[in-house]
Amino acid sequence: MAANSPPRRVGMFGGAFDPPHWAHRALAETALNQLGLDVLHILPTGHAWHKSRVLSPSDDRVAMCELAFGDLPNVRLDPREIQREGPSYTADTLRELKREYPLAQLFLILGADQLLAFKSWVRWQEVLDLATLAVANRATNIGADAPLDQATETDLSSVDLPFEPLNMPLKNISATAVRARVGQPAQSTGALDVLVPEPVARYISQHHLYQPPT
Ligand code: ATP
Repeated sequence: MAANSPPRRVGMFGGAFDPPHWAHRALAETALNQLGLDVLHILPTGHAWHKSRVLSPSDDRVAMCELAFGDLPNVRLDPREIQREGPSYTADTLRELKREYPLAQLFLILGADQLLAFKSWVRWQEVLDLATLAVANRATNIGADAPLDQATETDLSSVDLPFEPLNMPLKNISATAVRARVGQPAQSTGALDVLVPEPVARYISQHHLYQPPT
């Protein structure tokens, strides 16, 4: 992008990020490089209408996002969904971004599980009108016990939505698996920094996040 020219390619990557993990970071890096983004907004969700679990405090999730993504070029940590009153919808955020970057093509970055659930999103047609979906594949067996090194790609061949595939090697990591591993002995489960960047692992330990009830 020439100096002072307005951003032309703008990405939005939302998530609970509870906590952000290596696959989130790989997804952000892949999107920045493959899509040639001038700016990538990272948006921790406020009240995530589609998650049944109560999320960790937003201050902690924002701080961990800073540690996980803060050093990537063109990344902007964007707290607007956290600051918004009531439930937060992607369509509203994209509408705001469109106002802020009227000349830009907007990209919505997501994983395969979210693509499969996309038509359950509030005003998903409006999302499609506003942004190009850019999707990383994700293993079929996600969750607390999913083996890191055994991943089968999700079959997206029946998806009847336009999307741009992101070329990212499968990383079978989920925030669920990270939360489940905290508080378990490292010799049986491996160190946490296989799943999250080291500064995030340190933050989790220093702030006693995800501790099993005693
Ligand atoms: P949880 O296990 O708590 O449901 P999560 O690991 O899915 O969390 P989110 O913060 O909900 O993390 O995900 C944000 C975005 O990142 C979503 O679009 C999701 O599909 C994508 N994503 C998360 N993990 C991966 C992964 N391993 N591979 C590809 N995409 C991923």
